[in-house]
Amino acid sequence: MGRDTQHGVGHRAERLRARLAPILGAATRTVGIARDLAIAAVFRRDETDSFFVAFTIPSALRLLLADAMTSRGLAPIVSRTLRKEGEDAARILYARLRGVMGGLLVLVTAAGIALAQPFTELLAVGYRRRYGEFERTLWLSMTLFPYLLFAGLAAHSFLSLDEPLSAAFGVLLGAAAHAVGWPIPRGGAQSLTNALCGCLAALGGTLMTSARVDSLASLPVFDVTLCDVTPRQLVRMAGSRLSATYRTRLGKYRYGPAAFKVDYALREPIPWRAAECFRAATVHLGGRADEIAASEASMRHGHHSERPFVLVVQPSLFDPTRAPTGRHTAWAYCHVPNGYAFDMLGIIEAQIERFAPGFRDCILGRRVFSPAALEKMDANLIGGDISGGAMDIRQTLFRPTRSHYATSARDIYLCSSSTPPGGGVHGMCGYHAAQVAMSRLGL
Ligand SMILES: Cc1cc2nc3c(=O)[nH]c(=O)nc-3n(C[C@H](O)[C@H](O)[C@H](O)COP(=O)(O)OP(=O)(O)OC[C@H]3O[C@@H](n4cnc5c(N)ncnc54)[C@H](O)[C@@H]3O)c2cc1C
Repeated sequence: MGRDTQHGVGHRAERLRARLAPILGAATRTVGIARDLAIAAVFRRDETDSFFVAFTIPSALRLLLADAMTSRGLAPIVSRTLRKEGEDAARILYARLRGVMGGLLVLVTAAGIALAQPFTELLAVGYRRRYGEFERTLWLSMTLFPYLLFAGLAAHSFLSLDEPLSAAFGVLLGAAAHAVGWPIPRGGAQSLTNALCGCLAALGGTLMTSARVDSLASLPVFDVTLCDVTPRQLVRMAGSRLSATYRTRLGKYRYGPAAFKVDYALREPIPWRAAECFRAATVHLGGRADEIAASEASMRHGHHSERPFVLVVQPSLFDPTRAPTGRHTAWAYCHVPNGYAFDMLGIIEAQIERFAPGFRDCILGRRVFSPAALEKMDANLIGGDISGGAMDIRQTLFRPTRSHYATSARDIYLCSSSTPPGGGVHGMCGYHAAQVAMSRLGL
């Protein structure tokens, strides 16, 4: 099969999947509702409580509208329009669909309240015989209907703390923690790099390190060049090889908050007050939820918190290669505004000391990285931003532009965390960039 034919088949299959997803999602939810009705009719719901019955119908509709239609239906349709017709068309479509969903939500909620009585009779056949039970169930149904539908749809809009999308990261990281934990590589992050370099060498590739590239013109001529840099650097390195429009778009790219980081050599493990912390490689120090929210809000408004949210990682508890026998290593960082010049060392250590009294006495040595020092160490960490750019809604979808990895020059690609899916040592940015470049090369 030729490449074009393969692409055609791939696109048709994708179109079919996008069309079928909401239908299949709706069908499975409908079967679920029918199952509940059948159970109620056959077994009679005398033994179940009012809340369960009142919960069933709005909950099923929430799953149908919020889960089946929104996430499985809306997302693929908007993505397809984005790919084929561009950012503006995708925005218009999304606004329309959101309007339709909002209208539908109001209609379904009103209908649910109006029809609460027949629904309740259907689901709670036996309650009529019990004094007060039917009325209670009916009242609960009418109350839960609007609440559940709104909660379900709101959850899909990723609202939490005070940043759009922050809930999505919480869910993602929480799910990853439950599924596989948060693994740390034996020997440190360098072992990931070593493994990748070994893989490249096995494929016949060669590497040149410690060679700064200031202009792509200084490189030999290649079929394609994949740049593991952020937009600001690419503009400098590629210059007029990129179109003026594309350079303007890259110029609008926004960088996110920074990290203020400290590496520690420790005499002994951090003396946590809570024994559970000795079983965790990563500890999030935040105190109460409102302290965490206040800390992140300060950072967003351009200053720091006196009690910042601090991430503390102590890999030597689980990986003996990280420190000489009997000794330990740890690193900690807190979030600060991009390029922030304030010295956070004392504040970070006070926060650790608060949860681990005696921590300062365990320190043998430390290395402090302000945002500026982080950028000096790695030119990609602009202003200390470790995620390759702000992860807001716009820059999550169009990262760094709607063409993602491809640039305006057919032989230049971006493959850093400034492309989807963004920051993190998952390698997916490079993987997808390579796929796009290979498909352009006809490989
Ligand atoms: C302190 C810290 C903690 C982190 N913790 C985690 C974590 O726990 N989990 C997680 O998933 N992610 C974590 N991250 C984020 C993760 O490391 C980054 O998101 C990821 O490495 C970004 O990958 P990248 O390829 O875009 O850039 P990088 O990994 O920064 O690679 C870019 C490379 O290009 C080089 N370079 C840049 N410009 C030039 C040039 N002009 N010439 C030559 N070379 C150049 C840089 O020196 C660098 O080696 C952390 C990052 C930091 C700094």
